Amino acid sequence: MGPGVRREHEERVLAALRDNGARSRAELGELVGLSRSSLSEVTTSLLDRGVIVVLDKGTARRGAGRPAERLALDPSSGQYIGLDFQHARVEVVVADATHEVLGAGRATYELGSPWHERMQVAFDLIDGVAEKANAHFGALAWIYAGVPGPYVPPSARVKLPAFWERSRINGYGVREALSGRYGAPTSIDNNTRLAALAEAKESGVQDLVYIRLGQGVGGGLVQAGRLTRGTHSLAGELGHAPVPGKQGLCRCGKRGCLETVAALPEVVKACQEAGVPAAGSATPLDEGALAAVDEVTTEVAAAMCMVLRPVVMALDPEEVVVAGPVLDLLPGLLLRVQEALMAERFTGLDVPRVRGPLVTAHEGALGALQAGYDAQALESKGTT
Ligand SMILES: [Zn+2]
Repeated sequence: MGPGVRREHEERVLAALRDNGARSRAELGELVGLSRSSLSEVTTSLLDRGVIVVLDKGTARRGAGRPAERLALDPSSGQYIGLDFQHARVEVVVADATHEVLGAGRATYELGSPWHERMQVAFDLIDGVAEKANAHFGALAWIYAGVPGPYVPPSARVKLPAFWERSRINGYGVREALSGRYGAPTSIDNNTRLAALAEAKESGVQDLVYIRLGQGVGGGLVQAGRLTRGTHSLAGELGHAPVPGKQGLCRCGKRGCLETVAALPEVVKACQEAGVPAAGSATPLDEGALAAVDEVTTEVAAAMCMVLRPVVMALDPEEVVVAGPVLDLLPGLLLRVQEALMAERFTGLDVPRVRGPLVTAHEGALGALQAGYDAQALESKGTT
């Protein structure tokens, strides 16, 4: 093997480990498309030089149950921080170059507290998590943080509605504070969108539509394994897509947005009006209450499908993930949306799977971590 070819093979192996984290030799062979002997030659050389290491614990099992050895970049060669700033708390995950999560944690702040206070809480949290995990940020590769509401980079020159404008400005402050303290590449995105990426990563799908029914309705799109941002960084804001026939005034200033039907406050109100006992009530729902819940479920599912149908037609996703506290009130919602979408497509086989969330803790921060790996991978490809 000539030196040029060998270098090219090495780059492929390193890129695969950087993008995917630790992998067994068999998995690595599939990822880089090298013959067994070529791969062995390259990995032996990289191992000898300490660029990559063998991890002692493997998850992939082969044959008689002995874990397959996994190869990874030297764990100390890069660290990643994923953050999720929510309205009243911040969550963090810290990982190394093998994509191994070293530590995670959360801390709270007062609702509406100023951003410099939230940043201090975040800094203390990061320090605490790193110390507990014995993690050092000697080669911090990327910091990625989620914020509530859309984050539109200054270059996009977009005027957002007033209710979003605040989180946009806050996003700038967060980015500056983080990069100022750590001196590492720092990116910001909407935390709902980052949760979409965490879901795609968890289920291993490349194309996914995510919709979160909480105080507002947010969403995210993953295509070909990456987050879709769109021209103005507003891709996936399905909460403000209009529902035909609806006229309710939305906080964005428009009428009939999906949010005016499917957000938590609206669903709670609809349940109350239909006579459903408040959530947490000790008495089980009687027949009448169950029928009322069913009615609200039908209404919300119908509105969601008005918005989802063209999105599904346009993107042909493998999964539609519905998340958020509304699912607790309307447990039948997923099935209802699945059925409605089934009725619409060509054969029924081309319909996305509708499911609830798989990642139920630190989803925004884990998505931020993944976005950090992707950003770093993209940058590495741009420079080599
Ligand atoms: Zn709206």
